Amino acid sequence: MKPQALGPGDFNLPDAFQKIGDETKKRGMKIIPWMEEDNRARPQIKGFDELYEVDLYGRRTSHHPGGPCLNNPYFRNLLVAQVEDFVRSYDVAGIQRGTERQGPLGNALGAWHHGGDPGHSDPGQTSCFCEYCEAKAAKQGIDFARVKKAYLALEPFVRDGRAGKRPRDGYFVEFWRILLRNPDLLVWEEFWSDSMRETQRLVSTTAKAARPGIPVGYHIWQNISFSPFYRAEQDYHTFMEYADFLKPATYDNPAGERMASFVDSVTQNVFGDLSHQQMLDFEYSVMDLKEKSYAELKGRPAPRFSSDYVYGETKRSVDGVAGSNTRITPGLGINVQEHNSTPESVRDCVEAIFRAGGSGLVLSTAYSAMGPENLSAVGATLRELKLA
Ligand SMILES: [Zn+2]
Repeated sequence: MKPQALGPGDFNLPDAFQKIGDETKKRGMKIIPWMEEDNRARPQIKGFDELYEVDLYGRRTSHHPGGPCLNNPYFRNLLVAQVEDFVRSYDVAGIQRGTERQGPLGNALGAWHHGGDPGHSDPGQTSCFCEYCEAKAAKQGIDFARVKKAYLALEPFVRDGRAGKRPRDGYFVEFWRILLRNPDLLVWEEFWSDSMRETQRLVSTTAKAARPGIPVGYHIWQNISFSPFYRAEQDYHTFMEYADFLKPATYDNPAGERMASFVDSVTQNVFGDLSHQQMLDFEYSVMDLKEKSYAELKGRPAPRFSSDYVYGETKRSVDGVAGSNTRITPGLGINVQEHNSTPESVRDCVEAIFRAGGSGLVLSTAYSAMGPENLSAVGATLRELKLA
């Protein structure tokens, strides 16, 4: 990519920072920008597409669950430059990195909320199989050809499951058999997760080299509440080394709808032998949750998860980083996706976050959707708790 001046249609970051800063200074507020790498349209910058992951058939990905390849040296250069620019050029009090992606196994299975919706995941488009990942794998003694073969073996299992074709010995047995014969499925999943941790560490060290002591934190995708596979990968303990704060998305308000969609997705393959309610019961057991039934979650308006969920997820993350300086500042969901938050639900969740040991919270996600009565409930509760 070649540096170029801002064009008329481009987002003007310096100007935006100036406008935000003028207002926040008057109110004694600090700015901690959120740097996101996915879940939005790819920037229309010449050459940017070449940073993206490559799928199982050598095609360049263009959108979630694909994204910029974490092992592409040009992407890492861009990331370092962006972090340095934020820290050196603007009056920021910290940096928050946001990413809502997972590795190739989770992507191939559609193991995330809405992962099984038409067009959301394709086992043939899972990634990354680019030249940089291949070269890095070779250095670690990973057989790239065998990894590809493993994912090619998984592809028809997922496709057939979505078409309702039950394997002769059942979904779970067939999945385990594929895994036994192709353990590289797991090798490549962990390879991806390790690469994500490397880039996160890079964000932290880059920011702190540019300005020693600047707090750097990470958003945790809400898939950690739905997918046991993803939860296993996102061990809070591993963040202690480089994260000053973590923002797990503990959004109560869209959680019911999201959990139901996760159940819909994984009952199309690995857990296809279970009914929706059986799968949900399994989820509630292994994920340590207790919320409404599948039929209730499917009702409209979509029901929220309880504040017990927010308490439990906050407590789990606080316990996960115990003994470190990493602070937990959960994302409090207010009218995220579903417009079902109320001042009472918001109040209960704010209280739950602090009771569970959270040291702050992030009102999430869109200010324009939250509603003044819900925002007032946050303020009132913080004053009640003598935190503001
Ligand atoms: Zn790659």
